[in-house]
Amino acid sequence: MQDDRDNTQEVYKALLESTRAIPWKIDWKTMTFAYIGPQIEALLGWSQSSWVSVNDWAERMHPDDRDSVVAFCVAQSQSGTDHEADYRAMTAGGDYVWIRDVVHVMRNADGEVDALIGFMFDISERKKAEQQLIDLQKQLEEYSFKDGLTGVANRRMFDSVLEVEWTNAQRTGEPLSLILLDIDYFKQYNDHYGHIQGDDCLKSVGQALMNAAIRPRDFIARFGGEEFVLILPATDEPAARQVAERCRKLIRERCIPHEKSGVATLLTISLGVGTITPGHQVQSLGFIEAVDRLLYQAKLRGRDRLVSARWHGSPQSFDEQGEGR
Ligand code: GH3
Ligand code: MG
Ligand code: MG
Repeated sequence: MQDDRDNTQEVYKALLESTRAIPWKIDWKTMTFAYIGPQIEALLGWSQSSWVSVNDWAERMHPDDRDSVVAFCVAQSQSGTDHEADYRAMTAGGDYVWIRDVVHVMRNADGEVDALIGFMFDISERKKAEQQLIDLQKQLEEYSFKDGLTGVANRRMFDSVLEVEWTNAQRTGEPLSLILLDIDYFKQYNDHYGHIQGDDCLKSVGQALMNAAIRPRDFIARFGGEEFVLILPATDEPAARQVAERCRKLIRERCIPHEKSGVATLLTISLGVGTITPGHQVQSLGFIEAVDRLLYQAKLRGRDRLVSARWHGSPQSFDEQGEGR
């Protein structure tokens, strides 16, 4: 009988100590390890005999995980609930390994918590894959909202931001300004300098424009091709014109040669600058179209300039129009 029992115990021990999961047992009263599988040394580098009390377990945990994981495990154990916890265990070399601890609470005949037994699983590979997915997701979000060439926001993002700011302006009654700008004679630039340099030029313009609008809610996007757009919330016409002037200045300061330009020897831009206090029921699309007409006016009047206008309610007939160089 005794032999049988010894035999069975040996089988269990052999089984437990040959699995990849690491078995352990903690005596609840003394808060000490009654057992931990020898595999622990291969995984974390700490010897089997170095696991004495639960403090050894808690101390060999990443400081960012420690408090929450220990509190959770103690609370679950006290209430007698089986549980699982993921945390980073520290190796003897100071690195970290992601562990999933699966815990079963054992009770004595009186129903009191007697011991905890469990398995530690090495889940580093899974965590790595999870992190990769998170990183990819982030990249995807960036790609879907950022223009790949210039790094500023793309048209899709512009549409979303304008919708939000449009509704905001309708609610607050504050003026909303929009600047649409387009590079002058960019077709000639491409034809003369080639597409690669054309792309570099667009990058440079995008970077310059990022510094044009400085308030936290100001927003810039590539509208398409060689056109960019700025949304300036709570900005009246004089302030919007100032930002537009700053755009021109920043581009000028880049000193991008443009031998084939019809208006200058350096690269220039034309801008439409619109300001509106949008009425309820009025759609933003009509406003964009109206600002686009201002940009067209700037082109017609000789390029390298801005044309501005201000509307109340709807962008049908403007209150005032201005021009600037
Ligand atoms: P205007 O002064 O009236 O604005 O004339 P323009 O030549 O700038 O205008 P047009 O619309 O005729 O030409 C725009 C050019 O911009 C044509 C197109 O090849 C170029 N373009 C648009 N997107 C890109 C891009 O991503 N990279 C490069 N290199 N060129 C682009
Ligand atoms: Mg264009
Ligand atoms: Mg152009």
